[in-house]
Amino acid sequence: MQVHDLIGIGFGPSNVALAIALEEQQSGTRPLSTIFIEKQPAFAWHQDMLLENSHMQISFLKDLATLRNPASRFTFISYLHQRGRLQDFINLKTFFPSRHEFHDYLAWAASHFEDRCAYGEEVIGVLPEIQDGEVSLVRVRTRLRNGELRERLGRNLVIGVGGTPSIPEVFAALGHDARVIHSSRYVRGIAEHRDPRRIAVIGAGQSSAELFMDLHGRFPAASIDLIMRGYTIRPSDNSPFVNEVFNAEYVDYVYHRPVDERNAMLRSYWHANYAAPDLEIIETIYKVCYEQRARGEARHHILRRHEVRAAHAANDGIQLNLHDLDTDRVTPGRYDLVVLGTGYERRHHRDLLAPLAPWLGDMVVDRNYRLSTTAEFQPGIFLQGACESSHGLSDTLLSVTAVRSGEITAALEASSPSTRYASDASRSKPALAAQA
Ligand SMILES: Cc1cc2nc3c(=O)[nH]c(=O)nc-3n(C[C@H](O)[C@H](O)[C@H](O)COP(=O)(O)OP(=O)(O)OC[C@H]3O[C@@H](n4cnc5c(N)ncnc54)[C@H](O)[C@@H]3O)c2cc1C
Repeated sequence: MQVHDLIGIGFGPSNVALAIALEEQQSGTRPLSTIFIEKQPAFAWHQDMLLENSHMQISFLKDLATLRNPASRFTFISYLHQRGRLQDFINLKTFFPSRHEFHDYLAWAASHFEDRCAYGEEVIGVLPEIQDGEVSLVRVRTRLRNGELRERLGRNLVIGVGGTPSIPEVFAALGHDARVIHSSRYVRGIAEHRDPRRIAVIGAGQSSAELFMDLHGRFPAASIDLIMRGYTIRPSDNSPFVNEVFNAEYVDYVYHRPVDERNAMLRSYWHANYAAPDLEIIETIYKVCYEQRARGEARHHILRRHEVRAAHAANDGIQLNLHDLDTDRVTPGRYDLVVLGTGYERRHHRDLLAPLAPWLGDMVVDRNYRLSTTAEFQPGIFLQGACESSHGLSDTLLSVTAVRSGEITAALEASSPSTRYASDASRSKPALAAQA
């Protein structure tokens, strides 16, 4: 069986950026032999949330390459030039392209690496390949769409699998009910619904706000309850000093703070990324609700300080027990459709790596995103997008993707068995590391 120098799991923006960095940055005489494995049949970036009017929440300059190499042929500007839209884009006077356009850019970038991406294969586990008492390679097991299993051997692994939909327990208990749709499969799921009259949207982040507005436009006769635990809908803070937490250099600062301080920073800046829609969409929602009231048709409601404590699937709808956190009172609500804007968890890498647990300890990552291992474990395992607790809030976003890919590429190049740990200064500071 062929041994790959590098196996990438997932081919979303993080690993596409890595493919670009590997292409542009490698200085060795022999480029690393690389294969990426992606479970979707073709490149797709959060396709079920490509809504009309949705736009990027980050400057197009934080694309897959610019911050690492502005001269790259894989920048957003280069894409626009190739598509013949560069001047027209300039006339738009925006830093924030539509998500449709950015999706097309990402797919365009990914298309250059078709020869090294296996689409339609889901990685189901990573196993140790043991020789003379040492783990010399990793064995990556995948399942194809026809159920067939396949295995590949690798010297290094980069895991960029993104998040897994976070479904609150009360809704998970309902199983697969077409009347409950998580945002991650919204476009597919909503197509099955013709005329829902009562709709609940759970959560108060950007996705929930976008879903609220999409449902409002799609079903003009429906009444929509936006149900949230918080006191109100707060806008994301994208003012310039706060935005500095998403700078690539800020990763160094975060990584080298003591763990307690780092956790305090994450709490302090949490709303810069989570549960905080753009001000513009908040104002639109407010206006829609106000105009309904002014016409005496107040159908939509923002249920602040409410928590769904129970959900029950009945013939005539999904029954929710809505717990008012201020009064402790519970009111029942019946909905034809419940849409979850409840975000994502980032634990999938742990499940995939479970068979390697004896060599990985507490899953501590170094500054170059490499997991620390015991001395008997030779392969390098790198994580993209699963290091928020150690590398900061930018880790799950596109903000540092270009620069991080360059850092991982450099670490991969330096990771021949003889140089691997000598070049890694952060291993001498284990107290600063954090669990991934
Ligand atoms: C609706 C939405 C909008 C967003 N908008 C922005 C934005 O404007 N700006 C921003 O900075 N961030 C945004 N984000 C955050 C998002 O995390 C990043 O944009 C980006 O997707 C991160 O890239 P990634 O490659 O790490 O993860 P992902 O994009 O999630 O890609 C991971 C890939 O791994 C694949 N995969 C997962 N498990 C397996 C497996 N077992 N085997 C094989 N393949 C697997 C998946 O199919 C997927 O293609 C948004 C997120 C969402 C949900």
